[in-house]
Amino acid sequence: MTDPVTALREILGPKGWLSGTDAEPYQRDWLNRYGVAPLGVARPANTAEVAAVVKACRVGGVAVIPQGGNTGLCGGAVADRANAVIVSLSRMTAIGEPDPESGSIAVDAGVVLAALHDALEPHGLMFPMHLGAEGSARIGGLIGTNAGGSQAFRYGMMQDLVLGLEVVTPDGAVWDGLRAVQKDNAGYQLRKLFCGAEGTLGIVTRAVLRLYPTPKQQASALLVMSDFAAAVSFGTYLRGEAGEFLAGLEFFSDVGLTLALKHLPDLAYQLETRGDVYLLVELASGSARVPLEEILASALEWGMEEGLVVDGALANSGAQRAQFWRLREEQPEGQRLEGEQLKHDISVPPGAIARFIETGAGICDDILPGVRINPFGHLGDGNIHYNLSPPEGRADFDGKAGQFAEALAALATEMGGSFAAEHGLGRAKIAMAERNRSSVERELMARLKGAFDPQGTMNPGVLVRIAE
Ligand SMILES: Cc1cc2nc3c(=O)[nH]c(=O)nc-3n(C[C@H](O)[C@H](O)[C@H](O)COP(=O)(O)OP(=O)(O)OC[C@H]3O[C@@H](n4cnc5c(N)ncnc54)[C@H](O)[C@@H]3O)c2cc1C
Repeated sequence: MTDPVTALREILGPKGWLSGTDAEPYQRDWLNRYGVAPLGVARPANTAEVAAVVKACRVGGVAVIPQGGNTGLCGGAVADRANAVIVSLSRMTAIGEPDPESGSIAVDAGVVLAALHDALEPHGLMFPMHLGAEGSARIGGLIGTNAGGSQAFRYGMMQDLVLGLEVVTPDGAVWDGLRAVQKDNAGYQLRKLFCGAEGTLGIVTRAVLRLYPTPKQQASALLVMSDFAAAVSFGTYLRGEAGEFLAGLEFFSDVGLTLALKHLPDLAYQLETRGDVYLLVELASGSARVPLEEILASALEWGMEEGLVVDGALANSGAQRAQFWRLREEQPEGQRLEGEQLKHDISVPPGAIARFIETGAGICDDILPGVRINPFGHLGDGNIHYNLSPPEGRADFDGKAGQFAEALAALATEMGGSFAAEHGLGRAKIAMAERNRSSVERELMARLKGAFDPQGTMNPGVLVRIAE
C-alpha cells in the first residue's frame, strides 16, 4: 500500500502539500496553546481534491484536521498528534455572483470574511457577520464554529445565515446541498448540523449564504453607563424604542478600555467622562427616511434622565463611527498585549448579565485576590467574554486557570446559560462539557459522531471524546 504522504503528494502536487518549516505557520493555534507538528498541511485547490485527501487519510489511518483562518479560540483547528494532516481551505477562495433577488451568494469555504464584505459592497448587499478576526477568519471556519459576532442578536449566528452547503463527508463522498432557499424541511436539517460541528463530521467546501441589503443609514453612539445593570436596562429600553432598527448593542469595561488605550497608541477615546461600563449602540435602516438619529438621541435623553447614562456621544461622521467600533473591537488585542490572560466565552439570558458579572467578580476575587476582570461582548444576546488578566504586578494566575474556568462555567450553567457561547468546544472545553452537560446530551452527540464518522478520522479529540 502507498504510504499516505506519498499518496497525498500525488493528489495535491507541489503547490498543495507543505511539510517541514513550510507547514509551521499552520501548526499552532491563535492563542499558541495547542498544536503538534502534523505529517504535513494539505492545501487542496477544489472539492475533488478535498475528497481525494480525505479518502487517502481514511485509508492510511491518518487524522484529518480542517483549518480555515486558524483564528479559533478553542484549539480545534490544529493537530494533537503527529499522525495527522491539516487540511487548509486557504486556496479555495472563489466568490460567486450575488443574487439580489434571492438574497444569496455561493462562496468557497476558504473565502476570508472581510474579502466577502469587500466583494459585496459595490452591489449594495451585505453579509451580516462581523467579528474582530474578520480579516483572517474564513467561511468554512465560521461555519465550523457556528460563529456569532456583533450582529448575531439581529441576524442570527452562522447557522441562520447558511442556506446551503457542500460537504466532503468522512468517507470522502461529496454531499451537494447547495440549495439557495430558506425553507427546506425535507428531513433532518443537515446544513445546520454542520454549523458548529468544528470539523468533526466533514469538511465544508462551499456554502450558499444569506445576504441583506446594505443599510442606507446608520446612527451610532458611545455611552458611559453608571454600571452593568444600567447597561442592561438601557438595552431593554432601546430594543423597545428602536425595534428592528437596533443593529448593534456591544459593551466593554473600563479595565478593557484602559488596556486597549495603553497598548494601542493610535486608539482614541473622545468622551470627557470615564466610567466603569461602556455601551456601543447602533441603529441601521435600509430606508433613508427613518429618523434614526432622533430615535437614538431621545433614548439617550431618557437614559440620562433615568440616571442610567452618565455621558454619551452620537457619531458625527463615518470616521467617528469607525473609531467607536475600534474601541470595542480592540478589546481582545489590548488584553492580549498586556500578557497572560484567561478567556471565558459565557452566555446568560440578557437580563442576567449584570448578575453574572457581579457574582463572577466575587468568585474570581476569592480564587485570586486582585485578579483583573475584563468583561466585554454582545449585550443583545447575553454573550459575555469574561476574560481575566493577572492582578497588577503579577505575570500569571498562580496555577488557578482551571479553578476560574470551572467556577465560571458552573455559574453560567446555574443561570441557564452556556460556557461555550460562540467559540465552540474545540480541544479546550471537552472536559468542561462533560461536567456541565447531561450524560444524555453528551451521549446523543457521541452517537451522531459515531454515525457520521465511525473510524474517527475527522478532527479526533475535538468537541466529543471517542474511544480510539
Ligand atoms: C480577535 C478575535 C475576535 C474574535 N471575535 C469573535 C466573535 O465576535 N464571535 C465569534 O463567534 N468568534 C470570534 N472569534 C473566534 C474566531 O474568529 C471564530 O471562531 C471563527 O469562526 C473561526 O474561523 P477560522 O476560519 O479562523 O476557523 P479555524 O480557527 O481555522 O477553525 C475553527 C474550527 O472550525 C473547523 N473548520 C475550519 N474550516 C472548516 C471547514 N472548511 N469545514 C469544517 N470545519 C472547519 C476547524 O477544524 C476548527 O474546529 C474571534 C477570534 C479572534 C482572534
